[in-house]
Amino acid sequence: MPVEIAPGIHQLATDYPHVCGLPLWLHVIDAGSELVLLDAGIASTPESTTAPELAALGLGLPDLTLVVNSHAHPDHMGGNAVLQKHSGARFAAPALEAGWLEDNDRLLAELWGSDPDALELTEAERSELLEMLDDRVRIDVMLRDGDRLPGDRPLQVITTSGHSPGHIAVLDEPSRTLFTFDDVQGRGRPYLDSSVWLAPLYTDVVRYTNGLRRLLDLDFDALVPSHGDALDATAGRQQIEDSLAWVDDVNTLTADLLRARGSLTVRDLAGAIGTDLGAYGGVNLQTVRMARAHLEHLAQRGAAEPRWHHRG
Ligand SMILES: [Zn+2]
Repeated sequence: MPVEIAPGIHQLATDYPHVCGLPLWLHVIDAGSELVLLDAGIASTPESTTAPELAALGLGLPDLTLVVNSHAHPDHMGGNAVLQKHSGARFAAPALEAGWLEDNDRLLAELWGSDPDALELTEAERSELLEMLDDRVRIDVMLRDGDRLPGDRPLQVITTSGHSPGHIAVLDEPSRTLFTFDDVQGRGRPYLDSSVWLAPLYTDVVRYTNGLRRLLDLDFDALVPSHGDALDATAGRQQIEDSLAWVDDVNTLTADLLRARGSLTVRDLAGAIGTDLGAYGGVNLQTVRMARAHLEHLAQRGAAEPRWHHRG
């Protein structure tokens, strides 16, 4: 049953907890001339859960006029093709990620395939991802920092970058509700059905921390993440501070390991992040991208030297 978290804003449940073992919330906003859906879920989400959730509000998928993708990850855009089939909605997304939003092969190659020495998708993982992604749709409205979403309600777009290169947050100005989607990650989050945690994910240390500090500067009464419960201003600010503290912890671990060992591969560091800092399952997409980001960060400051190897 949808919950009204602010006037005209309802939180919708999804099938993601059953499919991937993590909470995922979508939001529908009455913006006068537009009925806005924030994020699409995975391919199965619109028919399995969004349609019945909207029905409880006396609405249906055909009533949606604008779908916003906060960033180009499967759980935030995989439902696009099905939503397009059922509605005449336009699609809005960060201009910076249009390439990933419109091309699955490019997304898989550039996000999962960026460090082949550290991480390689198996065929089974690849087809699982493609199933959640479904067909891509064309993005109609390119969102840039400072834009307002179409409609009669002041919904401000803030580019945070961080979790993904073009990631946006959306601030509903009347209710001071800040949708942060996946950008405020704290120390990661526990899977619902195991003791393992999903680690934070970011690809650039400076962009991630700058985006978090930008969110701290905003005046908000509620912080609403995609994969957890809504937080009040105090708890929301604390979660942002915790996210910044995590980055410091990884910086320290990286510098200490590099000093102790003399050299470090992305894979070595990913394994250390994924075990020494908590039960994050060792080497995976999240820890590999963080490892790469932190090594590049050290190199940019002249504290490490990048090396290339010939693989014979
Ligand atoms: Zn997500």
